[in-house]
Amino acid sequence: MQLIDLRAQYCALKTEIDANIQRVLNDAQFIGGPFIRELEERLAAFVGRKYCITCANGTDALQIAYMVLGVGPGDAVFCPDMTFIASVESAKMLGAVPVFCDIQPDTYTISPQSLERQIKAVLAEGKLRPKVVVAVDILGNPCAYEGILALCEKYGLLLIEDAAQSFGASYHGKRCGSFGQIATTSFFPAKPLGCYGDGGAIFLDDSRLDILCRSLCVHGKGPGGKYDNIRIGMNSRLDALQAAVLLPKLKALEKYELEARQTVAQRYHDAFAGKFVTPFIAERCASAYAQYALLADSKEQRNTIITHLEEKGIPNMVYYPTPMHALPVFHNEPLYGETFPHAVDYCSRTFSLPMHPYLSEQEQQVVIRNVLEAL
Ligand SMILES: *Cc1c(COP(=O)(O)O)cnc(C)c1O
Repeated sequence: MQLIDLRAQYCALKTEIDANIQRVLNDAQFIGGPFIRELEERLAAFVGRKYCITCANGTDALQIAYMVLGVGPGDAVFCPDMTFIASVESAKMLGAVPVFCDIQPDTYTISPQSLERQIKAVLAEGKLRPKVVVAVDILGNPCAYEGILALCEKYGLLLIEDAAQSFGASYHGKRCGSFGQIATTSFFPAKPLGCYGDGGAIFLDDSRLDILCRSLCVHGKGPGGKYDNIRIGMNSRLDALQAAVLLPKLKALEKYELEARQTVAQRYHDAFAGKFVTPFIAERCASAYAQYALLADSKEQRNTIITHLEEKGIPNMVYYPTPMHALPVFHNEPLYGETFPHAVDYCSRTFSLPMHPYLSEQEQQVVIRNVLEAL
């Protein structure tokens, strides 16, 4: 059994994936080309954005987003205390200061109440310019966008949606990847839409930002092409081979994978409701279930369960064991008096189980039996 079974997916889509890969090899166009163009069009249409720019990975997508929005020294970037470091790493690298916010105790996404407290604290201190909120759809669950957008409006902040884990999820009828001035995603193999290596994408609606992103992806190219360099950029492109792999996967995701994820999640929910805290999905929202995370009663109970699962060979993982403010690399960041009780509590009790669209009911029963056995 696998936490995420990429081999089962390949077996299901083998004919189409193999044919596409062969076509790239025959045409020998490895950078750019028709697969990249078709993928960008299909991704933008799926998410409901005017533009999609593919790039080398989700971390680069975030870096380009921060660069496009002009993030730099003196800026405060507000981010959830419980996320993967990539959400805010490149903002820090560009000279900005990450300001952590607690999560909501139910959805585990950034808490608008904590966000507003932190914005006010930064303003009161008067040292940093509140600039960007990075909203992370953690575990595939969309953020509370109504509250976040209202705060962005109130305080004049820009919004980046980190949709690395939420491709296919939705909030109030809109797909994840459609929120904020810029949204980013990742095609790392284990994400809801993954390729066979690294890959990422940027989503936006403003044609000037589209041109700017495409320039930053290719060494700051200007209107005259890649040797007409008008700014300092990066080399961040998606390979044509990865686009060839992603096209059939996107089709499968739309056709049946998203639904299959809901079926798997519902079976876990039925088995674990009342015994653990199961994922909470708000009204008119759908999670992509990048992970299926449960909360145990205590850290001790969580660790006992993990030890039992390890002994029985059942894959499991903790997303994430340490809140951002407690990571060694962030020991010197200003916390503005926040203690992040919900993020700390979540990290101490969470554990994730095998979750993918090809998980059979039989395999799932084995997982469920072993988790309940550990209690
Ligand atoms: C995976 C991930 C990223 C980074 O994506 P890569 O393609 O691995 O660079 C960023 N943010 C979140 C929340 C992620 O889960």
